[in-house]
Amino acid sequence: MPQTSAVVDRPISKSKEATARPYSPPVGVQVCRRCVMDSTVSAVKFDENGICNHCHIHDRLNRAFPTGDEGWRHLEKVADKIREQGKGKNYDCIVGLSGGRDTTYCLYITKKLGLRPLALHFDNGWDSPVSKRNIKNVCTALDVDLECVIADWEESRELTNSTIRGSVPYIDLTDDIGIINSLYRTAASEGIRWIIHSHSFRTEGINPLRWNYVDPLYTRSLIKQHCRMKLKKFQNANMLNVLYWMLVKRIHVFTITNYYRDSGKDIDAFLKDELGWEDTGGWHFDNEIFGLQSYYARHKFGIDWRLLEFAALVREGEMTREEALAELQTIPQVEDRRLVDYALKKQGILREEFDQLLKMPPKYFDDYPTFYPVLRAFKSVIWALSRLNYLPPHTYEKYFEV
Ligand SMILES: [Zn+2]
Repeated sequence: MPQTSAVVDRPISKSKEATARPYSPPVGVQVCRRCVMDSTVSAVKFDENGICNHCHIHDRLNRAFPTGDEGWRHLEKVADKIREQGKGKNYDCIVGLSGGRDTTYCLYITKKLGLRPLALHFDNGWDSPVSKRNIKNVCTALDVDLECVIADWEESRELTNSTIRGSVPYIDLTDDIGIINSLYRTAASEGIRWIIHSHSFRTEGINPLRWNYVDPLYTRSLIKQHCRMKLKKFQNANMLNVLYWMLVKRIHVFTITNYYRDSGKDIDAFLKDELGWEDTGGWHFDNEIFGLQSYYARHKFGIDWRLLEFAALVREGEMTREEALAELQTIPQVEDRRLVDYALKKQGILREEFDQLLKMPPKYFDDYPTFYPVLRAFKSVIWALSRLNYLPPHTYEKYFEV
């Protein structure tokens, strides 16, 4: 099980001036000697050289998933298979598109591989105007059909508020379920056999389980205890549905980003020049609830979502360790007071009420009924499914190693 250690607050400076000062961790906090993961993160372990388990997982995945020419040859081989299975259908694969940089580049790569993707956008009511424009422009530039699934706003808002009332760290939980359901349902109805997934361990790291655990029973438990309205439209994830989609419909998940490098300013320039993509303005600015999510997780749990990404970028040599440590002392730009206040207003939560919710004791998935004991019992099955492209390849690492 993940640790149940108390959260130690990371010191936060008030301004960017902090970047000039060298970082010194609070007493008792160990920082990885290679990246920036530290002992405030649940389930982090260090070896005898002071290197964290996330670094070792990163290296292992790097060896398993080559990039460059070798990675591209692998992508072409997989693309041949996907094309073969797409014969006679309208599309070869489905790609989730947020309007942000990573999913946009992923859609471009599927086209470059000669595939016929259907882009799917899940609208949780928080798309920024720039991401809306990006979705439209990119699909036009790449000549890709777009399917938009729009979440019921009243229900979506109440579900987010339920997670805040439930005192758990990840308030996007039900949006993730909405995205997964939409991808599988659309794939099943279109006869599409491949979901193209764009999470990159190289630039995003792997979320510690306690930060954003998702399972249907856990979601049901949160809804039962904290949701104040009768839900008519929300469809929770369902294990039987997932098994049906995987084993009967034979829908695979392919994490394409494992085989190419998707960081670097040249990619941003390419997306802007060739696809009419616009920079969303900063880290996670494509979805406007992220300011609230970041503020809430940092103030209530000491969770700074940037830590995982910075740690990954340090391992990849895209950022120095010193730069990352200095940046982590600043307040994330996305937590701009106006953005947080706007999000609270849209969520219908008064500031005083929110401050009270922040003071309530933090909880994690293991404070609620979940399927985690069942998942542990089927650990080897999950390992096999994640290696056979039925689940994203990092599923095993996420659920059992971090
Ligand atoms: Zn490390």
